[in-house]
Amino acid sequence: MSEKTAFVWDEKCFWHFGGNYALLAPVGGLVQPMVAGGLPEAPETKRRLKNLMDVTGLSDELLLTSAKPASFEDLLRVHPQSYLDAFKEKSDSGGGELGLRTPFGPGAFEIAALSAGLVSKAIELVLTGEARNAYALSRPPGHHCLPDYPNGFCLLANIAIAIEQARQAGLGKRFAVVDWDVHHGNGTEAIFLDREDVLTISLHQERCYPPDTGEVSEIGTGAGAGYNMNIPLPPGCGHRAYLDAMERLVLPKLRAFDADLVIIACGFDASGFDPLARMMCSAETYRLMTRQIMEVTGGRMVAAHEGGYSELYVPFCGHAMLEEMSGSSIRAEDPLAARIATQQPNAKVDAFHRDIVSQMAEELRQSGVL
Ligand SMILES: [Zn+2]
Repeated sequence: MSEKTAFVWDEKCFWHFGGNYALLAPVGGLVQPMVAGGLPEAPETKRRLKNLMDVTGLSDELLLTSAKPASFEDLLRVHPQSYLDAFKEKSDSGGGELGLRTPFGPGAFEIAALSAGLVSKAIELVLTGEARNAYALSRPPGHHCLPDYPNGFCLLANIAIAIEQARQAGLGKRFAVVDWDVHHGNGTEAIFLDREDVLTISLHQERCYPPDTGEVSEIGTGAGAGYNMNIPLPPGCGHRAYLDAMERLVLPKLRAFDADLVIIACGFDASGFDPLARMMCSAETYRLMTRQIMEVTGGRMVAAHEGGYSELYVPFCGHAMLEEMSGSSIRAEDPLAARIATQQPNAKVDAFHRDIVSQMAEELRQSGVL
């Protein structure tokens, strides 16, 4: 068994092109093109994490590797043939858009399959013992994608595809997904909603995206009842509220479920500097949430990159997380640490957030999730 941390990435994933957008609106009519802008799901937020790791030397301490794209057969375990055919055809003919907020350019099908392949490789490395834990810098992201409907920059359901591939290969039976991207992990939830062998947990800003999913009352259906946990937090939650929700809601459920592998759907868009949400987490929050997970799993885990739209801050959040995963002594000093620390909610608001977590704990106990 290796004690290494793997980092699975591929330059080609940065070449996915999200079309001519100005933040969330397509350019045209009264929406002027942005010179330094475009779709927020852009390569630089991810590439700059790898760049920072190279500059600090953290890359040298990790097992860096790429992966094969997920095969058509791998994709078919989650997505219907009709969707894959439509996606491939549009991708081959110059790109376009199939669902909601998922513009893509030529060749996007192959890049999205590679993104799913990176997550599969990360899972394989950990479950075969070649790495203790692993981070997949997957792009495009996956957690909003439904089997037949791409959504919110997500073209294929990366984590679901990778879980099914690992199961098929006999590498594991029970998986838990903890989605701390600030947006609801609606795709992963929908795919595993009736399954008792895949626990899905999502912490998110309530009614941010998608605005109509992610309620506490959605606990799973059929055999999957009790194996879906939603933790919708009000805007403005920061370091202490996230750690509290993890401690009192997420960790007890993870301990009880006892998965073969815990996978983090890792968005860094709950940071205080993200343009697409209104939360107040810091790089230190991500370090400590990673530590919380590792204390439950004995250090074994996989993270798959999802959202995070601050070009400046995502690299520092990711670096802090990888410092924790690898146990490295290298530190990338957070240039915004003092600023975000002074902006955390005051004691009165903290108490309000604690009450909300207490209410959710009660509701989850009553519905049998906790
Ligand atoms: Zn997100």
